[in-house]
Amino acid sequence: MLGPMTHPPLSGPSLVWLRCDLRLDDNPALDLAAKSGPMALLFILEEDPADPWPLGGASRWWLHHSLCSFESTLRSLDIKLFLRRGTPQQIVPDLAISMGARQVIWNNRHEPHAVARDKATKMALEAMGIAVHVPSSALLVDPQHVRTASGGPFRVFTPFAKACGSCDIPQPVPCPDAMVMAPACADIVSDRLEDWKLLPRTPDWAGGLRDSWQPGEAGALKAWKRFKTDALNDYAAARDIPAQNGTSCLSPHMHWGEISPRRLWHETQDMAHICASGVQKFLAELLWREFAHHLLAHNPLMPTEPLQPRFKHFPWRQDKEAFDRWTRGQTGIPIIDAGMRQLWQMGWMHNRVRMIVGSFLVKNLLLPWQDGQAWFWDTLVDADLANNAAGWQWIAGCGADAAPYFRVFNPVLQSTKFDPAGIYIRRFVPELAALPDDSIHAPWQAPPLRMAEFGIVLGRDYPFPMVDLAQSRARALAALSLVSVQTGKPPQSRL
Ligand code: FAD
Repeated sequence: MLGPMTHPPLSGPSLVWLRCDLRLDDNPALDLAAKSGPMALLFILEEDPADPWPLGGASRWWLHHSLCSFESTLRSLDIKLFLRRGTPQQIVPDLAISMGARQVIWNNRHEPHAVARDKATKMALEAMGIAVHVPSSALLVDPQHVRTASGGPFRVFTPFAKACGSCDIPQPVPCPDAMVMAPACADIVSDRLEDWKLLPRTPDWAGGLRDSWQPGEAGALKAWKRFKTDALNDYAAARDIPAQNGTSCLSPHMHWGEISPRRLWHETQDMAHICASGVQKFLAELLWREFAHHLLAHNPLMPTEPLQPRFKHFPWRQDKEAFDRWTRGQTGIPIIDAGMRQLWQMGWMHNRVRMIVGSFLVKNLLLPWQDGQAWFWDTLVDADLANNAAGWQWIAGCGADAAPYFRVFNPVLQSTKFDPAGIYIRRFVPELAALPDDSIHAPWQAPPLRMAEFGIVLGRDYPFPMVDLAQSRARALAALSLVSVQTGKPPQSRL
């Protein structure tokens, strides 16, 4: 069982290095600094050529607006946020010296690249006699603290969730009462956010993102309030219906740390008496996030290598044209195209549809899960190394606690079940909007004359399906049988 983190009282000016924690509420690094005296706040746009996962386009858009929002909150408190671009190992010590900091404080991160970077930065600071404090708040429980009975990391969700759920998850800390800027900061220069050029060059794309999101802590709190009031009660059932606003849409806010998982955890638990099933399901999803981060912390190669080595030599195809059609939402399978176009328009896709488009890519098209992951990384506003890699490995069947590797989602059955009236499809594939419910899920099965009644000619107004679903499923099972030969288990069943 874990108790709340306690820190010795500090004194003197502090430098707080902010990363994915652009919030005032439950920000232990800010809380600690505020209690110890004057402070300066720093955000670094990292430029490390060795970083295999530089920010994708949608993440850069989000970061720009999230920083704008945080800067404006801080300005109202007379606090400046220093912006710098480059290598933290150099920038953090330089600024700490310039402002005469007694200590540098940052909230812990657990991604492998961040762990190495933080270690190097800490060493550089300590070598100069500057103390470093690293409280935790990105996750409910530190991945190093949750262990199986034999002391190892978890590989299976259910026992992990049980172990995590029984930990004493610290209560969130409130916003600091008062924050005072260190006087020595007055002459220190900061980059201008506009000079970082984080916004995309294609304004149309940014327009869709702007219409869908309000990055920043105020936007996060607004989304949380909407979800608690309107959606939590029905969450257990509604979370699977892509046409409904049945999920929290908090994922980008959570990735950028605009709202804290501990705040969400405790406030959700407090509502258990009102809507028990919604609460339990939502808490379980927060634990899936924990699990993904736990897996990544213990398997640093998860974004590139299958967690199950028997998938290492899987015969993936290379087919750029097929991949491009998938990315553009031109596969000819309406639910897939709706999902991929939602991703492009909003920078986000409903979880059920992420699973359907993912299965189509890796099973029906036999294209590598890493390619799908890379596209999501570039286009999702919630792109998150751990959640993305865990999601794709789960879909491909090569993850730790993955879907059975022989499961091939049937997109037509999924669409009929989870979007029966085709509302989601009509929203994102408007060229099919006129079709009746019984034809919208698989228009190629409708007689051409019937299609013509609604003014739609396949091949002209909407593509024919790029693969035959039954044949491509059989091809996937044949390829997967190579894996099953190695395990001795036959491919079976379909969803
Ligand atoms: P809600 O249903 O409201 O859930 C609340 C929170 O729980 C989410 O915001 C998220 O932080 C967490 N969560 C929910 N489901 C999952 C899950 N399956 N795994 C991990 N955490 C979860 N999520 C990301 O945040 N970033 C990604 O890059 C990402 N890539 C994915 C790729 C694939 C192929 C798949 C199948 C899933 C991926 N997910 C990813 C998980 C999930 O789809 C999103 O977290 C969810 O759709 C976000 O919407 P929401 O905030 O409304 O979720």
